[in-house]
Amino acid sequence: MINLLDLDLDALSATCERLGEKRFRAVQLFRWIHQRGAAEFGQMTDLAKSLRDQLATQAVVAAPALLNEQASADGTTKWLFDVGGGNAVESVYIPEADRGTLCVSSQAGCAVGCRFCSTGHQGFSRNLGTGEILGQLWFAEHTLRRRLGLAEGERAIDNVVMMGMGEPLQNYTALVPALRTMLDDHGYGLSRRRVTVSTSGVVPMIDRLREDCPVALAVSLHAGDDALRDQLVPINRKYPIAELLDACGRYLDAAPRDFITFEYCMLDGVNDSPEQARALVRLVHSRVACKFNLIPFNPFPQSGLMRSPRERVLAFASVLQDAGLVTTIRRTRGDDIAAACGQLAGEVQDRTRAGERLSRPAIRLHPADAGVRH
Ligand code: SF4
Repeated sequence: MINLLDLDLDALSATCERLGEKRFRAVQLFRWIHQRGAAEFGQMTDLAKSLRDQLATQAVVAAPALLNEQASADGTTKWLFDVGGGNAVESVYIPEADRGTLCVSSQAGCAVGCRFCSTGHQGFSRNLGTGEILGQLWFAEHTLRRRLGLAEGERAIDNVVMMGMGEPLQNYTALVPALRTMLDDHGYGLSRRRVTVSTSGVVPMIDRLREDCPVALAVSLHAGDDALRDQLVPINRKYPIAELLDACGRYLDAAPRDFITFEYCMLDGVNDSPEQARALVRLVHSRVACKFNLIPFNPFPQSGLMRSPRERVLAFASVLQDAGLVTTIRRTRGDDIAAACGQLAGEVQDRTRAGERLSRPAIRLHPADAGVRH
C-alpha cells in the first residue's frame, strides 16, 4: 500500500499516471487530502468511481497514530505520535494572536547530541518518512480546524518550524517533499517565509536546501567560538563556525527572508557573559545579515546545566542590540507540559548510546569566563 502522505504533487502525479490518470486528477486528489483533510477515498466525490476503487486497493492516507495529547494552560498543545518500533515523536501547536505555529519533528531521536537538548540526550533511532513528517501537519491542521470550527479555506496553522525532535538536514530526502507539500498552493499554501528549517549546522545540506527548496533558515549557534561550540553542538567539530557562517551567507542569495535567524540557548555561566556577547558581535558583524533569538534554557536533570538568570539574558541582549543586531528573547511556551524548546523527548529506542556519551563531566569554561558565574 502506498501512503499518499509520502508523496509531493509531482510524485502523486507520477503515481496517478501509472494508474492511467492525468495530472489534474492528481491535483484533485492532493487537494482532497491536504486542503480538506480527507482520508477516505469514498469521500472524494469528484473523482471517478473507478479511480476511487483502484486507490482503495492500492493506497492509504495515514498519519502516524496519536498516542497522547496534552494541553498547556497557555493554549499550547503537544501531541505524541507512534512511529513504530517503540519510537514516538512529538509535535507542538503554539497559538498566538496573529498566527498559529506548528513545531514538527523530523527524526525519532537525534544523532547530533547537543548538550542542552533532551532529544539529543535520548540518542537516535531512525529518520521519519515524508508521510510521518507531513502527517504531523495534516493531523494538526485538520484536527484544529474541526475544533476551532473554522470555515472551509480558513487555516489553523500558518507557520511551520522544523524545530521538533531531530536534525531535519540529516533527513534531507524525506524533508524536501514534505516542505514542497507545505508550500504547494494545492497543498497547505504556506509562504516560504512562514516555513522554517532549523539546523545545528549541516553545511553541505544548507547549500542543497538553497538549491532545492529555500525556505527560512534558523541556525542553532549557541556559542561564538569553536572551542565552546564543539562542546555544546558536537557537529561543530565537523563544520566549524567559519564554514557555517559562509554557508549562511550563500543561503541568503536564495532565502525568502533577508536574514538568517541564529538561535542561542542561554546557559548559566557557560555562554551568557557580556564578553561572549561581544565576541558574537565581532563574529557576525559585516559577515552575515542575521537576527538573534535568545532562548531561556529549559533545564532537565541529565543536562547538568542551568537557565541563565533573566538579568543576564537582558544584559546579553543589550550588547547585541547596541551593536545594531535585531535580538528577541523567546517567550517560553508550554513548559508546564514539557513542550518548550529543547524539551521534546517522545520515546526513542536509542541505537547510538547517546546517554552514555553525553553523561560526561560538566562543560569546561574558558579561563576568561570562569569568573562569570553569579
Ligand atoms: S538541538 Fe536539534 S540538532 Fe541538537 S540534539 Fe536537539 S534535536 Fe538534535
